[in-house]
Amino acid sequence: MRMLQHSYIDGRFVQTLGVETMDIVNPSTEAIIGRLRLAGQDDVRLAIEAANKAQHAFSRSSKQERIAMLRRLEEAVRKHVPAIREATIDEYGAPPQRATWASEYAAACFGHAAETLAAYPLTRQMGAASVTMESVGVSALITPWNSVAGSICSKLAYAIAAGCAVVIKPSELGAIQAQVVAEAVHAADLPPGIVNIVIGRGDPVGTTLSTHPGVAKISFTGSTQTGKAIARAAVNSMKRVSLALTGKSPSIILDDADFPHAVPLAIQAGLQNSGQACVAGTRILVPASRLDEVIALTQQAIAGIKVGNPRDPQTTIGPMISAAQYERVQRYIRIGNDEGATLIAGGEGRPEGIERGYFVRPTVFAGVSNDMTIAQEEIFGPVLSIITYRDDEEAIEIANDSPYGLQAYVFSTNSERAHAVASRLLVGGVKINSLQHEPRAPFGGYKASGLGREGGVFGLESFLEAKAVVGE
Ligand code: NAD
Repeated sequence: MRMLQHSYIDGRFVQTLGVETMDIVNPSTEAIIGRLRLAGQDDVRLAIEAANKAQHAFSRSSKQERIAMLRRLEEAVRKHVPAIREATIDEYGAPPQRATWASEYAAACFGHAAETLAAYPLTRQMGAASVTMESVGVSALITPWNSVAGSICSKLAYAIAAGCAVVIKPSELGAIQAQVVAEAVHAADLPPGIVNIVIGRGDPVGTTLSTHPGVAKISFTGSTQTGKAIARAAVNSMKRVSLALTGKSPSIILDDADFPHAVPLAIQAGLQNSGQACVAGTRILVPASRLDEVIALTQQAIAGIKVGNPRDPQTTIGPMISAAQYERVQRYIRIGNDEGATLIAGGEGRPEGIERGYFVRPTVFAGVSNDMTIAQEEIFGPVLSIITYRDDEEAIEIANDSPYGLQAYVFSTNSERAHAVASRLLVGGVKINSLQHEPRAPFGGYKASGLGREGGVFGLESFLEAKAVVGE
């Protein structure tokens, strides 16, 4: 049992002042594995105060000092990779491969940010102006439960690179993972107040961060609905806001793709992170003339997937994070059936032989039209839709017919054709015959999938303000 009752404020673990507590549940077993005392308004105010106290000196730190801090953070988080991995399995139910990737990614973020900062000109001459990129100031980092350590560390790395003191508000559903990250940050021995971590609910912790005049910038990852609420609240004090939001990504399988390779890869794109991924390719667009072949390959791919105990090295799909998320996914499967889509794999209920845990059957519908609810709304579980198209033009039209525009996948044996399709998709990123994540590239969404970009130079600039000085 982990008892979490401390916030990390001003370089120390201090007793959380909030009075509400909640159980921490292992989603694979439904066993209670810990108890969290949730931070409240007083905790977050103290954290904002500590960050503001640290900000003045930190804004004036040199590039070399920040790079040294990033290297210390990288080393400290790397030492905690096994603990992050364990927490990601126990608290989130991530399958082994995912937990390993996610924990190593958390450490690697600091190295990427250090390299980016080293190569970035903080002062440039532009015509008659000397332009300096300055720290935007105290930043609130608000993160979701589906990628706890990764979201915290990727935001934190670029905030530190830019010289911003931070208040981090992780999801209350990722408290153990956030606690391990906090321990790693503490071990990096940064000056007090530069990093503060308060784990509490969206309201009051997130809402206080979005409205408090002591916060200059909000970097948020989560749902579009919450992102809109934050942006509305933040505009009164004119906070800078970056939003990484909901997705409903298309995977376009072109008719010249290598189908036996492309279909399983598209299924993998849809089911990554147990389907709880903003970038999941949940709409699989296939040529109408090849539908039977796609269905057979899909059923074969799904039959080879192991759902269950995330401690089993063969498992590739773990549980949903909570009972509420399980119910949400079940509801969408019912909606798919009610709307007349054809179930070709999975369906309602737990996978056969699993009695406990929030496990969902990997589910695929064919006969889906893009205006159905299951094709328009983010389900955030292992539920995919196969949609047919007549030609490339129609495929592009369907892909773009979504309120979201986070990512897309294109499968083809013709690189030129795949790139031509990619150039017409209204999304922040396209992966061609690949699921590879490039952390140095900008990451973010068009339309309701976000505002701004994270990662690399774009991630760094999201925490900077430009100042132009003209004259002698
Ligand atoms: P969420 O929006 O419910 O919560 C995200 C965070 O915001 C949590 O820490 C939550 O406590 C906090 N929050 C809630 N209400 C708030 C408010 N009014 N003010 C301030 N903060 C508030 O999202 P979630 O359920 O944790 O995560 C799933 C969603 O996140 C999905 O929609 C997914 O697509 C999205 N997501 C996007 C990306 C991306 O990079 N685009 C990455 C991961 C997840």
